[in-house]
Amino acid sequence: MIVLDASFDKSAPRVEESPPADRPEICFAGRSNVGKSSALNVLTRRKQLARVSKTPGRTRLLNFFNVELADRAGPHRRTAQVRFCDLPGYGFARGPKDERRAWGQMIGDYLQKRESLAVVVVLIDAEVGPQPRDFEMMEFLRVSTHPFIIAATKADRLARTRRGAALDRIARDLEVPRESVLAFSSQEDIGWKELWKALCAACGIFGAASDHVLTSEEEAP
Ligand code: GDP
Repeated sequence: MIVLDASFDKSAPRVEESPPADRPEICFAGRSNVGKSSALNVLTRRKQLARVSKTPGRTRLLNFFNVELADRAGPHRRTAQVRFCDLPGYGFARGPKDERRAWGQMIGDYLQKRESLAVVVVLIDAEVGPQPRDFEMMEFLRVSTHPFIIAATKADRLARTRRGAALDRIARDLEVPRESVLAFSSQEDIGWKELWKALCAACGIFGAASDHVLTSEEEAP
């Protein structure tokens, strides 16, 4: 997987103001500080790409990025366009009740109305495990039935021998199949390739196949 280009497109306060639904979209959700910006930067190989999402005035908006991919180097490569949507970190949802409601409305609307949405990546800190807002996000996902993948971030902080158990626990707590949980790190080479493969499979590009993306209908009882 080669990222040919990645650039900020626009910010939108409501799904109705999103860019056109003209390519598969991958959205990223997670509480503030979970490592979402770092993951976006690592996935696109751009050191500062997601910084824009943290600039004043944009932290509570949907932030869109255009990403151009190639399946390999050389003249016979195939290319594809996808869009990333960086959802507001759940941090602001800790505020007053009306802010929490605004967050829920925005996420619910986005998941319900965004036609090009191909897959949702929910980031959970591998060490800390799911927090109350993560469970709320999963409820939104269950209702929407969009395919999703859980990226367990900062996996480098766990000894290799403890990673499997941490992922098992996340899957159990969230009541999702174990295959939907992937270890990821922005600091070490953990999960980058697997996550891209799963995302390409969900977007239907490059003929990629992956066991890691699941729809809520496929969930274990
Ligand atoms: P965001 O608020 O979710 O966008 O989180 P950031 O990407 O800004 O990361 C929050 C903090 O976690 C920063 O201090 C990062 O350096 C750190 N961090 C992010 N990803 C990783 C990771 O994979 N491993 C480790 N050890 N730290 C990370």
